[in-house]
Parts: sequence; structure tokens; C-alpha cells
Amino acid sequence: MRRLFNVVLVLGLVLTALPATAQDKLKIVASFSILGDMVRQVTGELASVTTIVGPDADAHVYMPNASDAKAVANADVIFLNGLGFETWSDTLIKTSGTKAEVFLATTGISPLKVEGEIDPHAWNALTNGVIYVTNIADGLASADPKNAATYKANAKAYSARLMALHTRATAELNKLPEGARTVVTAHDAFGYLAKAYGLNFLAPVGIDTDAEPSAKALTKLIDHLKKVGAGALFVENISSPTLVHQIARETGIKIGGRLFSDALSERGGPATSYEKMFEHNLGTLIAALQKSS
Ligand SMILES: [Zn+2]
Repeated sequence: MRRLFNVVLVLGLVLTALPATAQDKLKIVASFSILGDMVRQVTGELASVTTIVGPDADAHVYMPNASDAKAVANADVIFLNGLGFETWSDTLIKTSGTKAEVFLATTGISPLKVEGEIDPHAWNALTNGVIYVTNIADGLASADPKNAATYKANAKAYSARLMALHTRATAELNKLPEGARTVVTAHDAFGYLAKAYGLNFLAPVGIDTDAEPSAKALTKLIDHLKKVGAGALFVENISSPTLVHQIARETGIKIGGRLFSDALSERGGPATSYEKMFEHNLGTLIAALQKSS
């Protein structure tokens, strides 16, 4: 009897010492690639994180499919951006019948408004990124309290890196002359970045990508640019470059490169994480605007 007890005890110790398998890891679904990376930075190996809208894809016009519904149904925790970014998420969550806890990464952020509409692209300011990370760590701590200390520690280290990058971005962008601070992108995705670093972003399309600009609005923007100029035009990874090319032809303003606005790059690309995306955008903006001034 004693021997059997020992065997059971040893077996128990062996089992608890084994690394967590994919099956007993916390299953997390994040709505889009940038948020998915932020969640992974906070969970490390403690969770399995999948994203609904992948790299280089446009979350504004996304249509969820059957495998998204399955992932949501099986999730323990769901993270959304909120601020009206994922127009499809309510229906997806409801129809999936999931029991997952849903957390918004933008809780506590003061939203910007563009022509009366709430701008959802809050991640494009790193100070907001830090709020996302805090919300992610708080959500994880409540869903998985036994690992709360690790989530908080990971979030603290990650936030410190984001703030160091913010300090560097502020210093570098402050050096740009006043006349080189206006840029044009395909859609209005950089309002928070503009506000944080004193830049002026113009776009032919508003904060959603699903609307074509009216011919009148496009003519107005082109006339405005012909008068006041702009440091550079930028195409985006998630939007068609057609309009930006048209503006370049009609105004003579140069295209300064490609910015990652609403999604990370595919593996092997220059923006495979939130930090790399921000660094890429910062470097691209500075290189083009220094040349223009
Ligand atoms: Zn967008």
C-alpha cells in the first residue's frame, strides 16, 4: 500500500513538472495582428494567442469566416481594440456562443474624433500602447489569476521599452522643421501619432477604409496640397495605393515609402511586431521628411 502511494506521489510530481501543453494553455483570440502581438508580449509562453485579422489585412472591411467563429467559440479570453474598429465583432461573438471573457484594449484612452466620428487607431501613439498593455495585463490577471504576477512583470518590461521608443520618437520628430510636418496617407489612420508628435496627416479617405472619397473631396485635397505642399506622400500596407499615386501625379509631391497603419507585415517583412512597426514608420517618416526640408 505504502509503495503504491509512493508511486502515485512520484507520478503526480512528474506530471506537475511537465511544461504546460497547448491544451491546458489559456486560449486567447485577439481581433487584429497588432493587438495579437501586444498580447503575446504580455503572455510569453503562458498562452496560445491567435488573431482574426492577419498581417497586411484590413480590419475595417473584414468578413469573419467559419474558422474565426470556431476560434472565438473555443477561446477563454478575447481582446478587442474597441472604439468602433471591429464593426464585425459583436455579431461574431454572439453567433459563436463563446463563454470567453471579452476585454477592450482601449479602456481609459481619451478618443480623438475626426469629423464627429471616433477615431479607433489609438495604437499609433505609443503612450496609448502602454495603456493597451496595462489593460491586457489586467484582463489576463483576472482571467488567469495564478499567472498574474508574470503577466504584470512582462507588461512592466514591455511598457518600459515602449516608453523608451516614445522618448526617442519625440526627440527625432521634434528636429523636423515646421514646413516638413505635413504628410499624406491613404486613410486617416495616424491621428493619434500626429497629435502625439506634432505632425499633420492628411488623407483622401477618412477613418474607415470602406468609403471611396468623393471626386469633390479628392479635388479639394489636391488643390489644398498644390497650394500648401506636403513633406511627402505615403502608401499603406492595408490600402490600395491608387489614390496616393494619383495625388503624387497631380501635385508633384514625392511618395516617401510605405507606412504600416492597421496591421503588421507578414513574417520576413519590416513590421512583424508593434515595436518594429512603430520603428519602421518612424524611420520612414523621418527619412522622407528630412529629404523634403
Ligand atoms: Zn484604419
